[in-house]
Amino acid sequence: MYTADIKPEIASLAPYAPGLSIDLIREQYGCSQIIKLASNENPLGASPCVQEAIARHANAVFRYPRGGNPRMIEALAKHHSVPKERLILGNGSDEIIDLLIRILVGKDQSIVCCAPCFTLYPIQAAIAGVAASRVPLKTDFSFDFQALVDHVTPSTRLVFLTTPDNPSGYCPKGEEVLAFAAAIEKKAPRCLLVIDEAYMDFSPTEATDSLLISNKIPDNVAILRTFSKSYGMAGLRLGYGIVPEQIADAFWRTRLPFSVNILAEEAGLAALGDTVFHQKTLETVTLERARLSQALKDLHCTVWPSSANFLLFTLPPKTLSAKDCFEQLLRAGIIIRHLKGYDLPQHLRITLGNHEENTAFLHALRSILHQTNGTTA
Ligand SMILES: *Cc1c(COP(=O)(O)O)cnc(C)c1O
Repeated sequence: MYTADIKPEIASLAPYAPGLSIDLIREQYGCSQIIKLASNENPLGASPCVQEAIARHANAVFRYPRGGNPRMIEALAKHHSVPKERLILGNGSDEIIDLLIRILVGKDQSIVCCAPCFTLYPIQAAIAGVAASRVPLKTDFSFDFQALVDHVTPSTRLVFLTTPDNPSGYCPKGEEVLAFAAAIEKKAPRCLLVIDEAYMDFSPTEATDSLLISNKIPDNVAILRTFSKSYGMAGLRLGYGIVPEQIADAFWRTRLPFSVNILAEEAGLAALGDTVFHQKTLETVTLERARLSQALKDLHCTVWPSSANFLLFTLPPKTLSAKDCFEQLLRAGIIIRHLKGYDLPQHLRITLGNHEENTAFLHALRSILHQTNGTTA
């Protein structure tokens, strides 16, 4: 009889826990209308230009994509004024994260990342059988740069940093990140600093705090960006990186040949061209971030400053638990994120939706808090 002998690093693996899906909650709670504010998706939905591009190219899906996605690479090189040779594309930036680990980190080598951080970094490291050295954030959710440098050893091959950070929205200054890159290079010249800028275009300080936009990418730094958030294409899977040329070369040899599909590529080209939709998205996020943050504070929640399209918050003291609040919101048809998966059982994260969605959330939260106060007072 066959016995599956799963490799130990896979057998013990906890899977990535995504935000709950709309269909699941509809089935479980029988709500007719569900509002999902759990996965940092675009508050305005999909760009009309992207939808039109997908429809226009639907008849081409019997073809394989062109190897190396040259049109998308050309468009991004122009968009960011970077050399084509340093650009890579993946099936979401998730694929790039996974491949960087597999390309650069061997069995007795390691990665460094924060705790908490985007959970995919340690998960993909575990799958690759590679150790992840976790460095706690400071209590205000800022990065402990000194401790991060202290954890870098000669066998560290990758350091992951998310700016603005997920799940807090904290964005370090560009100069701090530059100094950090220099400190890593001094200590471990074979270590690459990966700066995941998935949310950077939502930041009011992008011009100075993004090493990509300020055109100050050091030799030992890779920048990751994605079409999943501000471009509204999470379901199509398209991410990209600006990396040292030698790594780009290794990446293209390693990546599965057709992992970026034809529709994702056409959609990405259309999305880059639709500056109106992108701008409107950024404006919506900026307005709603200020409004929702103030409204949560008015409800006596603690809200962390955010440069991204989500807010991290805790409930007022002596009220219900974050878990109970999360579940009551589900019953009201509103999905947010309870951060137990990030080891933050008392914290909640809400993705900024459109004006109506955020208003519905506030209304539901107000009534949940009010009821709780009513019964415990
Ligand atoms: C959402 C997110 C991404 C984007 O992942 P895709 O695979 O491009 O959808 C990358 N990094 C972080 C930190 C994220 O939160």
